[in-house]
Amino acid sequence: MSTPPPLFNRLALIGVGLIGSSIARAARAQGAARSIVATARSPATRARVRELNIADEVVETNAEAAKGADCIIVCVPVGACGEVAAEIGKAIKTGAVVSDVGSVKGAVLRDMAPHVPAGAHLVPAHPVAGTEHSGPDAGFAELFEGRWCILTPPAGADDKAVAKLSAFWQRLGANVEVMDAVHHDLVLAITSHLPHLIAYNIVGTAADLETGTRSEVIKFSAGGFRDFTRIAASDPTMWRDVFLANKDAVLEMLGRFNEDVAALTKAIRRGDGDALFDHFTRTRAIRKGIVDIGQDSPTPDFGRSHPDLPHTPLPKPYAGED
Ligand code: NAP
Repeated sequence: MSTPPPLFNRLALIGVGLIGSSIARAARAQGAARSIVATARSPATRARVRELNIADEVVETNAEAAKGADCIIVCVPVGACGEVAAEIGKAIKTGAVVSDVGSVKGAVLRDMAPHVPAGAHLVPAHPVAGTEHSGPDAGFAELFEGRWCILTPPAGADDKAVAKLSAFWQRLGANVEVMDAVHHDLVLAITSHLPHLIAYNIVGTAADLETGTRSEVIKFSAGGFRDFTRIAASDPTMWRDVFLANKDAVLEMLGRFNEDVAALTKAIRRGDGDALFDHFTRTRAIRKGIVDIGQDSPTPDFGRSHPDLPHTPLPKPYAGED
């Protein structure tokens, strides 16, 4: 079967961690761009990207990477998107598609838009795929296969630019959905941001237990707690930025969550087995729905996230972070 022609001539990736390096690998594997230029903040990461040979060119500055690119994807923590956009603004060529991969969209749009020149097209995006690992070694070409990528173009965005970026993500194996940034942030607050907060909180609570109890927590860590520790091992910078950038939506969902915890607390205190049973039956149906639409595997995740095996082939579709 012949490979379709590349969608972009020069793809610039600014930030080459888990997501940036996965895009580089997938874009190369799928021939989605004629050439890939990459950069990262530190000399160490740039050197590693050169060693890994996942980009055609590795340059020293963000502006150098952006220069001449017809697609620029900013793959840095949400809190750094604005400053990166300011650095590259003057280097962005007319007609270029400028995008990002941040887990929060409203703040990214607000911070990047003022720096994107007229004639270039800002189309923010969020690939809802990931793992708890970070850095250029953590990426892999299959990360986006079968996962959603949500595009949040601002009102009046250029249709052709949106279509081209959409085709790019589809070439990388993702399903694409277009959504308003505010709606995205509300949905992701409950499906991703709150679960991470709960994981960070429960693992923190366990860590604060008395020494004796804590060692037993680790020794007898059951599947539920182990899953939380995996999520709570996610990158602190990335997640600090997510909660700062999506404050309102997270607080809204946290308010609802607290009300529901209060209801469950009451049911336990009163010995109301029916209420607990009904609640758990309802949530079980949600899990079935997720498996049925192929967004997770019904099989256990044995070894999937073992720290020594970050490149273990992942069961598809992969239930990762985002
Ligand atoms: P990561 O592995 O920590 O990589 C971040 C990269 O950004 C590193 O290469 C870092 O360079 C670079 N960087 C940071 N500040 C920079 C700056 N000012 N200029 C240039 N490069 C800079 O992070 P990630 O997991 O790929 O996450 C990147 C973005 O994707 C975040 O916005 C996150 O919200 C989003 N996202 C993450 C996931 C996930 O599961 N991890 C999923 C979906 C979306 P150095 O290494 O030199 O510091």
